Amino acid sequence: MLASALLEAFTRGEGQFTVHAGKWQKKDLDPGIDYLINASEHSGVGCQRKVFDTCFDNTAAESDHHECNDSNMSGCPCCNVTSPATCCDIHDPSVFSSFGSHLPKPPQASPHSCLPKYTKNKYNYKLEEALLDWHEDKMVAVYGWACLYDHGAVIMTSTMLNCIVNCAHHQKILTCQDLKRETRWMNSNWFGDEIVNIIQQHAAVGREASLLGELGAAIDNELAAGPLLSLHFTTIFLASGDSLNVPSKCRSRCSACGQEGHNARNCVCPKHASHVSAGDKENVSPPAHLCA
Ligand SMILES: [Zn+2]
Ligand SMILES: [Zn+2]
Ligand SMILES: [Zn+2]
Ligand SMILES: [Zn+2]
Repeated sequence: MLASALLEAFTRGEGQFTVHAGKWQKKDLDPGIDYLINASEHSGVGCQRKVFDTCFDNTAAESDHHECNDSNMSGCPCCNVTSPATCCDIHDPSVFSSFGSHLPKPPQASPHSCLPKYTKNKYNYKLEEALLDWHEDKMVAVYGWACLYDHGAVIMTSTMLNCIVNCAHHQKILTCQDLKRETRWMNSNWFGDEIVNIIQQHAAVGREASLLGELGAAIDNELAAGPLLSLHFTTIFLASGDSLNVPSKCRSRCSACGQEGHNARNCVCPKHASHVSAGDKENVSPPAHLCA
């Protein structure tokens, strides 16, 4: 079963490099190496030596140790292939323990954010332009003018540039660390701070612009529907005297009687100076006005 799986894989030519549309594309891992590394995972293998025996068809090999030494009954001890005392690190793990890696595995990189689709606005394009300018300057500074046109995107590819614009649009890049995590840009360590600076400058401009936009829209709405609408609400509020229709955050509580919906200066208040009898009015300053 192992043999046929391996043979099939070999005849399919797996483990080779093939050219696709001008790009080098690595196909699956060489099956022999795959079975060797993952011998303990593949069902029916469970031994690394078995993989060698299969790959090199060792069972079919005839031993010739009697040919070079026919005086010895057991043949030539040098050419006689006997089964080794140690099989493999699955069967004899203790023998191989000193070959294990003692280097701690690097921590897994934290995953980048999944960004929703959006339509680029003029601030996104402004940032894109600024990054292109930065890239051009950097290319000239690092490689000189001569390289600019031939190797345009060495420091930052257009895909990377676009990725940075997208992340910046969703406010995912505030620090150099963010830039690394979100884009995996390999030049983050060298130029990350410069890019974050550019992003921050553009974010500030974009925020101001959008705040101004919101404010403008709010004023427009107020002008369009405001005066009539607010007059209407005021009328209901004053006429009903109760506050059931008013959201609680708009309700005020009266300091004189403790009821909601009016204040102590309002004459709907039962404790308003205008409703209090003369007998209760000792030490109370006379009402400021008399309504009704
Ligand atoms: Zn083994
Ligand atoms: Zn020999
Ligand atoms: Zn009053
Ligand atoms: Zn009151």
